[in-house]
Amino acid sequence: MPNMRPDKNPMPHQDPQVRACNFSEVALGYTREQAIDEAQRCLNCKNMPCVAGCPVKIHIPEFIGRVAEGDFEGAYQIIAKDSALPAVCGRVCPQESQCEAKCIRGIKNEPVGIGRLERFVADWHNANATEKPVRPAPNGHKVAVIGSGPAGLTCAGDLAKKGYEVTVFEALHLAGGVLVYGIPEFRLPKSIVQKEVDTLKELGVKVETNMVIGRAITIDELKEEFGFEAVFIGSGAGLPKFMNIPGENLKGVYSANEFLTRINLMKAYKDGSDTPIMPLKGKKVAVVGGGNVAMDAARCSRRLGAEVYIIYRRSEAELPARAEEVEHAKEEGIIFKTLTNPTEILGYHNPDDPKDPRNGSVAGIRCVEMELGEPDASGRRRPIVKEGSEFDIELDCVIMALGTSPNPLIKATTQGLDTEKWGGIIADENGLTSRENVYAGGDAVTGAATVILAMGAGKTAAKAIDEALAKK
Ligand code: FAD
Ligand code: SF4
Repeated sequence: MPNMRPDKNPMPHQDPQVRACNFSEVALGYTREQAIDEAQRCLNCKNMPCVAGCPVKIHIPEFIGRVAEGDFEGAYQIIAKDSALPAVCGRVCPQESQCEAKCIRGIKNEPVGIGRLERFVADWHNANATEKPVRPAPNGHKVAVIGSGPAGLTCAGDLAKKGYEVTVFEALHLAGGVLVYGIPEFRLPKSIVQKEVDTLKELGVKVETNMVIGRAITIDELKEEFGFEAVFIGSGAGLPKFMNIPGENLKGVYSANEFLTRINLMKAYKDGSDTPIMPLKGKKVAVVGGGNVAMDAARCSRRLGAEVYIIYRRSEAELPARAEEVEHAKEEGIIFKTLTNPTEILGYHNPDDPKDPRNGSVAGIRCVEMELGEPDASGRRRPIVKEGSEFDIELDCVIMALGTSPNPLIKATTQGLDTEKWGGIIADENGLTSRENVYAGGDAVTGAATVILAMGAGKTAAKAIDEALAKK
C-alpha cells in the first residue's frame, strides 16, 4: 500500500538566521528514513506523467521504487542512464515546473518530492560507491568540446563512454561553467561539481582550462591543425545585459555575472583576494531583476553583511525565480520591492572636495512605481509606469541581474557559423550548426535557460556526433 500522506517530507534546512551569515549549503538533504517514506508516496502510475515532465526522461517511478525498497545504488544506476549530473539536478532543477508539476499526487495534495529523492540517491552514491568508472577502449576518433558547463560536460561524458578521445577547452581556470562561477556554494557545493569533473577525467576526458577558443585557438584550427573531427560548442550565455540608464558606469555597479564570478570562483570575499569586491558589511545593496540569478546575487550580498533590496518591475506573482529561492531569500531578510523600476543610478558628488574618494560612487537609485496592464507578447501583464510615483533609495551598490546573451567571440572567429540576431548559435534538432561537424547546444543556442535543458542538448549532440563519425 502506498503511503497516502498528503504532504512531502519537508527538506531539513539550516536555520535562516544562521545561514544568512555563512556560505554552507542551505538544504541539508533527506535522511535514509525520510527518503524511504517519501518514495512510498509514489503510486507507480502506469502512464508515468512525471516522466513526460522530465526534459531528459529519467525513469522516475522505477528509481523511486528502488528507493522505497532501500536499494539506493539500484536507484542511482536507473537515474544515471539518463542524467549525467544527478547530484546537481537534484539540487537546482526547477522540478516544480517539470516532473513534479505532472505528478498525480500533486492534483489533490503535494506531489512526490522527486527532486529531493534524486538528490538523496546521488548523494548516497557519491558517499558510498567505490567502483571507478571503466575507461572504454579508444575508437580512434577525436572530438573537441568548447565550454565545461552542463552542456559540454554531458556531451564529453557521453562521447568518452563510447571510446572517443575528448578534450574540453574551458576559458576559465576551473571547469563547471555556471555550476562553479554562477550558482553559489550555499545552493550547490562546488565539491559536487568537482566530483563530476573528476569522474569525466577518469573516463579519459582531457580538460584544458584557461583556453579561450577564438583567442588561443580558433575552431578552424582545432579541426584543421589539431585533428579534431567534430567540435561541440557549449560556451553558454555569459554576456550580461544592462538597462542603459544613467549612472550604470558608477563605482559600485556590477553585473550579476561579474559579482557572482568574483564571489564563487575567485572567493573575492576572503582577505587578500586578487579580485576583491567592495566591502559590503553594513552597506545597502539593490539587485535589479527577479530571476534565479538575482536571488543568488541578493543572497550572496546578504551573506557578506549587506541590507539587500530586490527591485523588480512586475508583481511577486511574475517573479521568474524558483518559488523556493524566493522563499529562502525572504527568510534570510531580503526586502522585495516589486512593481518598481529603476530610472537612474545616483552618484555621490562632494562639491567641496573633488578628491573625496566617494566621488563617482553609487549613492542611491531613483525608481518609479509600476502597475500591471494588459498581457504582452510573453503572456505576462505589461508593467506601466504610475504617474508621479518617482522615489529614491539610498544605496552603496547596485547589481544588475537582467539576463545574459552568448558572447560574440566564437561567432566572430568562426567562418560561416550562423547565429541569430541576438547572438544565439543556430543549430538543428540534433545540434548541428551551419558548419560541417560543428555542433552546439545549451545556453549558447537557446540563450539563458536551465541546467537540465543544457544537459539534454549535450546528450543529443553527442548522439549525433557519434552517428556522423561512425560513418567515416
Ligand atoms: P555554461 O554553464 O554557461 O557553461 C559555458 C562554459 O563555456 C563556461 O564555463 C564558459 O567559461 C565557457 N566558455 C565560454 N566561451 C568560451 C570560449 N570562447 N572558449 C572556451 N570556453 C568558453 N538553471 C537551473 O536549472 N536551475 C538554477 O537554479 C539555476 N540557477 C542559476 C543561477 C545563476 C547565477 C546563473 C547564471 C544561471 C542559473 N541557471 C540555473 C541557468 C543554468 O546554470 C544554465 O542554463 C546552464 O549552466 C547552461 O549550461 P551551458 O553548459 O550551456 O553553459
Ligand atoms: Fe509516482 Fe507521481 Fe510519477 Fe505517479 S506521477 S509515478 S505518483 S512520481
